[in-house]
Amino acid sequence: MKNILLFICDSLRADYLTPEITPNLWKLKEDWWSFHQCISGNSCTELSLPVMISGSRKYDPADSIMADLKELGYSSTLLHSNPKVHQFREGWDEVIDFHKETAKQKKKIRRLLRKYTTKAILSRITEFANLEDQKDHLPYSRAFEKLDYLEGNKPTSPSFQWVHLMDPHLPYYPIGSKLSHEDLIYINSRHVDAVHKRIEPGSDEVSTWLRLYEAEITEMDQYMGEYLKKVDLEKTTVLITSDHGEEFGEHGEYSHPGDKFVPELVHIPLIILGEVNGSTDTMFSHYSLRKLICRIAMDGFGG
Ligand SMILES: [Zn+2]
Repeated sequence: MKNILLFICDSLRADYLTPEITPNLWKLKEDWWSFHQCISGNSCTELSLPVMISGSRKYDPADSIMADLKELGYSSTLLHSNPKVHQFREGWDEVIDFHKETAKQKKKIRRLLRKYTTKAILSRITEFANLEDQKDHLPYSRAFEKLDYLEGNKPTSPSFQWVHLMDPHLPYYPIGSKLSHEDLIYINSRHVDAVHKRIEPGSDEVSTWLRLYEAEITEMDQYMGEYLKKVDLEKTTVLITSDHGEEFGEHGEYSHPGDKFVPELVHIPLIILGEVNGSTDTMFSHYSLRKLICRIAMDGFGG
């Protein structure tokens, strides 16, 4: 039986998978299989994940894709850094929470620094080393950290790995950005203000957010492209999708409010690598994702 590696690129809209923005994923999509009309179960993480995991609005670890695959002899791993994914931690053989680990490590370093340095030095080091607690305006852990972890830690086969990437999720801190860290903090805090309806942003501001969203997606594409070159697709089937899209004011709101069924928020990519070549315009709903993964595990994906 083949291993199954599922990438969830949190907040990735279908229309941002293009030859310019995501050259690596685009090429893989062309070489393998793509659903052009994939619809997420909902428009925010907490409401979309039960649909992907249990095929229903209710998350039930006993009635889930992990339980199905366990019966077939699969091990299951959830690798993420999204505090909202934490509530779906039951039912997996292994859960690796990068967000928690990073926060824990930062706390330990701060404690040691407090013990051995003066307050003034501590605040300078904290600022430079980005040791503050994870807050709204700080970046989530990057795709390359998780991909690096995947490379160094192979689970028992056959394995099912759910890898939840946060790069396209706000806040946006693209590594290659020419903007200063202070500017990015300001831009992201304005974006968060718009999400919470505290400000009405101008069109220039929204364009900046879109450019940064795009830059984060391009960087994630580079990391994924590099990583996927090393994956043996004879032994592993890779699925790439998202939990929902992202709104930039098209329908009066920002980010991804729940239960909002508009294309920007529910039309997402779904690519399958290592099975067959082709694509379809037939609509595919994430309510069927669990069944699709089971089919791949049992008989392979026939297109
Ligand atoms: Zn999400």
